[in-house]
Amino acid sequence: MTDRYAVIGHPVAHSKSPQIHTVFAGLTLQDMRYEAILAPLDGFAESVRAFIAAGGRGMNVTVPFKLEAYELAGTRSPRAEVAKAVNTLVFSATGIHGDNTDGLGLVADLTRNLGIRLAGRRLLLLGAGGAARGVLLPLLEQKPAVLHLANRTASKALALRDEFAPLAGGCVLSAGGFAELAGRQFDLVINATAASLADEAPPLPAGLYAPGSLAYDMVYGKTTAFLAAARAQGAARLADGLGMLVEQAAESFFLWRGVRPPTAPVLAQLREA
Ligand code: NDP
Repeated sequence: MTDRYAVIGHPVAHSKSPQIHTVFAGLTLQDMRYEAILAPLDGFAESVRAFIAAGGRGMNVTVPFKLEAYELAGTRSPRAEVAKAVNTLVFSATGIHGDNTDGLGLVADLTRNLGIRLAGRRLLLLGAGGAARGVLLPLLEQKPAVLHLANRTASKALALRDEFAPLAGGCVLSAGGFAELAGRQFDLVINATAASLADEAPPLPAGLYAPGSLAYDMVYGKTTAFLAAARAQGAARLADGLGMLVEQAAESFFLWRGVRPPTAPVLAQLREA
């Protein structure tokens, strides 16, 4: 019988995951079907259980259910525990297992697809929500010299810094609001805020971008207000989050099927579309 997988969210119709996983399945000759499931805002757990009862083997979880997925999972990977958010569910006879592949997806996109070396570099991470949480540990594991967290609500960035300080190793982990960034320079600026979804850019001071620096927006599919501002402020390179999306999907696929799909053809196909 064909194995069933799905992405669950609200909204979910815009999700590219069905397209990505269908191509992965074709490339790796896996007998599986992948669909999109719109769960009611108050019906996440019920929708997951209904999918399991119908033979579902695994799910990707998107906005706004990553925290609920974390709570629903009976067992969780160490990286999901640290992120306190789950984007991948694996169903088996022993129950529901939760994992988080977002951070690995970002690091794979930065290092493999974009050829960025993170060790010893100065990183600025904008935002302190679920996406920022999910990528913090994988970024720290790359051993940057500096990782500064900046958020509209500065207290949230400070709380995140305090929580992750024991995991920082030799990296200088600091935090604050946007205004305090004046006078500082970074090699990589990652936008993990939801500002781009409202066509807004975080209000960043001029002079942030070091020569040769990269501006990276986790939002994908368009030149966002953040990327446009970064270009105007001197960022040498711009990238959107499409590569992260494909790479996190590949990691989920590996968790489900034990096979690592090639990502380059899928990324090229999505960019063309
Ligand atoms: P959350 O709702 O958890 O967090 C939102 C964050 O954005 C908060 O830090 C919030 O600041 C900030 N924010 C919202 N609006 C603005 C604004 N107008 N100006 C400045 N800051 C703002 O969202 P997530 O962390 O889950 O997601 C963030 C983004 O990352 C989304 O756009 C999502 O699409 C994207 N994403 C992309 C992925 C990919 O694979 N490419 C994977 C995961 C996420 P405050 O605390 O002050 O409210």
